[in-house]
Amino acid sequence: MPIVAANWKMNPASADEALDLVRGILSVARGHSDRVDVVILPPFPWLLPVSEVLAESGVKLGAQDCFWETAGAYTGEVSPAMLKGWCDWVIIGHSERRIHLGETDEMVAKKTAAALACELNVIMCVGELADHYDAGTSDQVVTAQVKAGIANCSADDSARLVIAYEPVWAIGSGKSADPEHAYKTMRLIRKVVGELIGAGAARKVRILYGGSVNSSNVESYVELPLCDGCLVGGASLDAAEFAHIVKVTAEVYGHR
Ligand code: PEP
Repeated sequence: MPIVAANWKMNPASADEALDLVRGILSVARGHSDRVDVVILPPFPWLLPVSEVLAESGVKLGAQDCFWETAGAYTGEVSPAMLKGWCDWVIIGHSERRIHLGETDEMVAKKTAAALACELNVIMCVGELADHYDAGTSDQVVTAQVKAGIANCSADDSARLVIAYEPVWAIGSGKSADPEHAYKTMRLIRKVVGELIGAGAARKVRILYGGSVNSSNVESYVELPLCDGCLVGGASLDAAEFAHIVKVTAEVYGHR
């Protein structure tokens, strides 16, 4: 089943706006939740109110990050075990965390392993910077990120592991990646995952595209044979736009 995940980042500013947004998304998305895994990823403080709206809707809830320890003296951190109470999903290693908060591949690997051990579904993000893309080194960068990020994973994790290919230059820029480039990189990711956990298990790992996805371009990604859906940032803050992305994904994936 494809995935359409809404990364709200540090938005919206109030709980009331978050509730309006999730209600708007739900009014359309719940009709597709048997054909698409729709995942809403709000900021931590909105997880609880949003979870109440999503209850029994079929639309899933996730967090945008977690720490690798279960409990202890880690001020400001939230553990996978704490999230597990009301979340099914978590994003790990988003480029905004790598860039602004110095998150390293090693940290991504520890968080990914800890979240999977808690039976959360993980969307691990990888992607090259504009400089890498321009220099033609995207493949090397993405290969290294994937190898490091799933270093502690095994074939048993494959059904709960999702890798989002998000070229950093495409995030929030309006410059979505050429589908051909996205396809080649997703194919590379599947190959690298196969070398690490076995080709059979790697086929169960779902691979998403992310980077300026909207209702006009989503089809060009979801129709790619290796693409299992998309991670959506800016467009997920507009209920009608995001709901349209879910609808197109359900239709296109269903006809592949
Ligand atoms: C993201 O935040 O993961 C993302 C892809 O953002 P946007 O859709 O705004 O490019």
